Amino acid sequence: MKEFELIRRYFTEQVVKRKDVHLGIGDDCALVTPSERQHIAVTTDTLVAGVHFPLDTSPRAIGHKSIAVNLSDLAAMGAEPSWVSLAITLPEIDENWIDEFCVGVFELCEFYNVQLIGGDTTQGPLSITVTAQGQIPFEKYISRSGAKAGDWLYVTGEIGGAALALQHILGNVKVAPKYQDEIQKRLDFPKARVLAGQALREYATSAIDLSDGLVADLKHICEASGVGANIVLDDLPISEALSDTLGLEHFYDLALKGGDDYELLFSVSEDNKVGMETALANTGNKVTCIGQLNGSDKITTTLNNEPVNIKIQNYEHFTKSTFDE
Ligand code: ADP
Ligand code: MG
Repeated sequence: MKEFELIRRYFTEQVVKRKDVHLGIGDDCALVTPSERQHIAVTTDTLVAGVHFPLDTSPRAIGHKSIAVNLSDLAAMGAEPSWVSLAITLPEIDENWIDEFCVGVFELCEFYNVQLIGGDTTQGPLSITVTAQGQIPFEKYISRSGAKAGDWLYVTGEIGGAALALQHILGNVKVAPKYQDEIQKRLDFPKARVLAGQALREYATSAIDLSDGLVADLKHICEASGVGANIVLDDLPISEALSDTLGLEHFYDLALKGGDDYELLFSVSEDNKVGMETALANTGNKVTCIGQLNGSDKITTTLNNEPVNIKIQNYEHFTKSTFDE
């Protein structure tokens, strides 16, 4: 199968046909017509086999994840996703593989009414680069830099499950069979918090999506906003699989430093707490208050109201990871 045949067969036919796509796949460029008074939010993420996902990851999961991680970045800004392009480098043309990969890509695109408008197809070691574009009403975006001392810190969903799955795959921890499917799903099929992100436009002073780990990503908000933070460990919404598998110290370590959760971490002023909690409940998202921002230049943690020291290095148990950034 030639490149053109492959593109026509797998990527050109699509369920989603947006009115604001003037020209989709097939010409030298796609043409889109954004709504008036909207910012276009643009983001790109690359997934490289063996670096960002284990080599034996299912093609459907790879397709899903390559779209989800980009929609997650759009969500963190409060954008409504509109269009994606897909640059894919394949070692060979394996039709079953591409079929399954496309299931992963298009099920997410269809769910969020996102149209694939172009891309590039080349041969080489497996790697997928997606560029996603979304729209945000003028000046309604959420940045990393708007947090204020005194704001409350929140996270959507649960954290730590994906990092636990990765450590399980790497043979560093043994997870009970009853949790294995669930955490594998957390790692392979992350949910981008798209509706939560849009609902937060009205309430959040800052937001980021959790890709590198809670502390690492919180650090980005703190640096950009010029604030410090205290995390109340007792309040972290830690995946039960994680708290059941590891001892206290190790599970907090993984919850704070493990990545790949793709939950939203965001700050809200005291005045907006109740409104935000109601709005997020209406989108079907669980949110948990996990601490507060302050005027220091540090990230601290407390447990049972006592300060605890978090080591920023990984525990030696977890340094074997070959999939770290
Ligand atoms: P060009 O050589 O002008 O860059 P290509 O031959 O690479 O064009 O691609 C032809 C058309 O197919 C273009 O519209 C391009 O955006 C689209 N396309 C190529 N690869 C993909 C892909 N993996 N997914 C979606 N669209 C693709
Ligand atoms: Mg090309």
